[in-house]
Amino acid sequence: ITRIGVFTSGGDAPGMNAAIRAVVRTALHHDKKVTGIYHGYQGMIDNTMFDMDSKSVSSIIQKGGTVLKTARCMEFKTVEGRAKAYENIRAAGIDALVAIGGDGTFTGAEIFSREFDIPVTCIPGTIDNDLNGTDLTIGYDTANNTVIEAIDKIRDTAASHNRLFFVEVMGRDSGCIALNAGVAGGAEAILLPEKDTAIDELIEMLEHAADRNKSSMIVIVAEGDKNGGANNVAKRVNEKFDYYDTKVSILGHLQRGGAPSSADRVLATRMGYAAVNELLKGNTRATMGVRGSEMVTTPLEEALSKKELKLNEDLVEIAKIMAL
Ligand code: ADP
Repeated sequence: ITRIGVFTSGGDAPGMNAAIRAVVRTALHHDKKVTGIYHGYQGMIDNTMFDMDSKSVSSIIQKGGTVLKTARCMEFKTVEGRAKAYENIRAAGIDALVAIGGDGTFTGAEIFSREFDIPVTCIPGTIDNDLNGTDLTIGYDTANNTVIEAIDKIRDTAASHNRLFFVEVMGRDSGCIALNAGVAGGAEAILLPEKDTAIDELIEMLEHAADRNKSSMIVIVAEGDKNGGANNVAKRVNEKFDYYDTKVSILGHLQRGGAPSSADRVLATRMGYAAVNELLKGNTRATMGVRGSEMVTTPLEEALSKKELKLNEDLVEIAKIMAL
């Protein structure tokens, strides 16, 4: 391996820049050259690449988003698109890749690597914490912190008006953010995509809380909750339960942004370092992960084939007790 190409792809997450920085500096440490590829797979096809040195990653560790930009690229899903991408990266002298992204990015990397026999390692970057082979993904901790900051603010206004708030947080398939932020923000109830909470059951919980004369109530609704999101839940609850003045707040994309937390910066740095070292050791088609405090790697094929349940069941129970 003489030149490593690095890119971010799919959904962005805070801490991706810290990972890019670690990839670049670890590669340079091993006397390897680095090419930055803009806009993920799209940049390979469009040939938007540039030579990176240590300075190209100065002062980015603290920045949200990704300096390499990201994109969703349909053309890469075709054989012709991937052939064009391969031609361009070979012409640029790239003979190994580090991909930073989510499930889709990993799928593309796995296919591309097999098709053209190019070494690749992957770094899990997504706020949803829904990737296999790791306890934590880059961006998850920052998103949790962003969400509890928002919940705390909503709590202030909710308590002043005796209001019931339905706060929708990101997580189409994964309730990790909702659960974590719900516990940290002292939510009265949490609706998760992994659990089927009936509206009647929710109303019971709220009535119980109302009986205790709570000055405010907050229900966290993961966007993938089976009742159809915070607006629908609020509407259906209101039909039967009108004790409180009700409001809905959908946090949306602000959850993706912001300066990465200390934990995400460190995690991203360790993963970027590992991704280059594993490549150089010949451990290709692998994704980086952390288990407890240990760094681990998992073959991409394995990481993509099964679905790890990330939701902490103990915490689901604890959350209910805390809301009693
Ligand atoms: P994420 O990486 O966050 O899950 P996407 O699902 O959008 O985001 O995937 C990112 C990109 O990875 C896609 O836009 C596409 O270019 C590439 N990709 C996803 N699935 C495939 C696939 N089956 N074959 C080739 N490329 C893929």
